[in-house]
Amino acid sequence: MHYEFTHQQRIAYFTMEIALESDIPTYSGGLGILAGDVMRAGADIQLPLAAVSLVSRAGYFRQEIVGGRQIEHPDTWDPSQHAFPLDAKIAVNIEGRDVWVRGWLYVLKGHLGGKEPVILLDTDLDENSEDDRKITHYLYGGDQVYRLKQEIVLGVGGLRMLHALGFQIRQYHMNEGHSALLSLELLRRLARQENEEDNALSYDIPMVRQICNFTTHTPIEAGHDQFPYEMVQNVLRDFIDFSELKAVAGEERLNMTKLALNLSDYVNGVAMKHAEISRQMYPGYHVHAVTNGVHPYTWTSAQFASLYDGYLPGWCYEPQLLVRVDQIPDDAIWKAHLESKRALIGRIRTLCGKDFDETLPIFGFARRMTAYKRPDLIFTDLERIRAIAKNNPFQIVMAGKAHPNDEGGKHLIETLHAHLGSLSNVVNAAFLPNYDMDLALSLVSGVDVWLNTPLKPLEASGTSGMKAAFNGVPSLSVLDGWWLEGCIEGVTGWAVGSASESNGEDASSLYDKLEKTVLPLYHSDRAGWISVMKNAIGKNASYFNSHRMMRRYATEAYVR
Ligand SMILES: *Cc1c(COP(=O)(O)O)cnc(C)c1O
Repeated sequence: MHYEFTHQQRIAYFTMEIALESDIPTYSGGLGILAGDVMRAGADIQLPLAAVSLVSRAGYFRQEIVGGRQIEHPDTWDPSQHAFPLDAKIAVNIEGRDVWVRGWLYVLKGHLGGKEPVILLDTDLDENSEDDRKITHYLYGGDQVYRLKQEIVLGVGGLRMLHALGFQIRQYHMNEGHSALLSLELLRRLARQENEEDNALSYDIPMVRQICNFTTHTPIEAGHDQFPYEMVQNVLRDFIDFSELKAVAGEERLNMTKLALNLSDYVNGVAMKHAEISRQMYPGYHVHAVTNGVHPYTWTSAQFASLYDGYLPGWCYEPQLLVRVDQIPDDAIWKAHLESKRALIGRIRTLCGKDFDETLPIFGFARRMTAYKRPDLIFTDLERIRAIAKNNPFQIVMAGKAHPNDEGGKHLIETLHAHLGSLSNVVNAAFLPNYDMDLALSLVSGVDVWLNTPLKPLEASGTSGMKAAFNGVPSLSVLDGWWLEGCIEGVTGWAVGSASESNGEDASSLYDKLEKTVLPLYHSDRAGWISVMKNAIGKNASYFNSHRMMRRYATEAYVR
């Protein structure tokens, strides 16, 4: 192992998915983007981390749209083109047999000169059976047994791999519950034999809790991995004493969230509201709130980056400097925006042959296509849309993948295509295929307004609106997740509905906001519009960034 990474103590960051580069398909969405931004920020602020994830050789999937239907293609990649093979080899026991695991070292290089190691675990080895070789192939693929095997490789295998490579780990951080089995491996490692004759081990839970940190991301029970104990017994065998396991992971089923909660001294949700909901879901646990943030350099278009470099040097290291955005003249902001917008318009033309108009506002909506995100909310009343667009023309661009098993999500994509088609004589409308990091940057920087209409309170945080803010693009969003903290009405952007109102009112609130506030401002008050753009930068991007987030984890979770 490279000595440069093992000579000092590090924080191990365990995550099922991680967005390293746009074309490395080891991520599916927000959770992976966050993990990548954590590591990129760590590199910038010289916080020694080590990420552990799966190599996901077959990726998530590449999305093609045919006649409005999502078609899923395998998205395989060759780790040897991007990462170094590591010599160490460890085994985990699955269903009573040894499954061998090796690792790849991906060196994440920050643009400020910092580096962080990322270990990608791989079971595709000659020593393993055909089936076992595939354990690390499909991100979020397969059935529950497959998922449990992946989580054994990630949690147990990942911890063993770090040790085999000579890493000195001072704290472990679990990004969501997928990796919580690492806490069981820690229990085993730190266990004491009570006396010579008796083989019984005594687990030291407080000791493990001291070195574990857990970030929960999902505000609904059903979103958390839970495994029936018969399955666990069959797969894990005698890995751990089952009565001990039930005491920390739930009596009924192995609940990965519960396990992580019980074995971590530091627990947090990803926005203030989300932490509050998590406290209600899991009474008795102290759940901190660390609102997510996005990586400044990664999510800022080249045009805005060079503007900030000129007026606010140092912004990449200390994004708080963006509070001084008023130093930048309005016309420079507008020019940078128009250039990013033209780039997006060019991309829309290439991808789907549609011609958007740079003088008309573009609304962007891109996220995982699933019911609670309500991508179809804006199409609730097509007549109303037509009427609004007649007086105040606008355009709309959308993107997003549905999980292959989410029939509802896939159906939504079809519905969206039908709506976009039926509006095509009134507004320019496009759905861009294969939402990934690269397309996300084009969208968040090239549109005029970032739209988000999830069902409250299901959006734990949301991060794409933060990316938009770095590019001077304000949000028009339901008051949920980060937007509850970021929205100052008419100043940094606009709210759809109110925080307390029922979700049923959201469509009419959206139409009213579009018709009476957002579109008139765009069409008739350019200076007023640019002022909102600047506030998105100065009041949102300056705060909702990964550097603030990591400095908080560093001072509140990792040092305690
Ligand atoms: C940022 C991002 C996400 C997450 O966005 P949310 O606003 O949290 O839904 C998902 N996918 C991609 C490709 C992204 O860049």
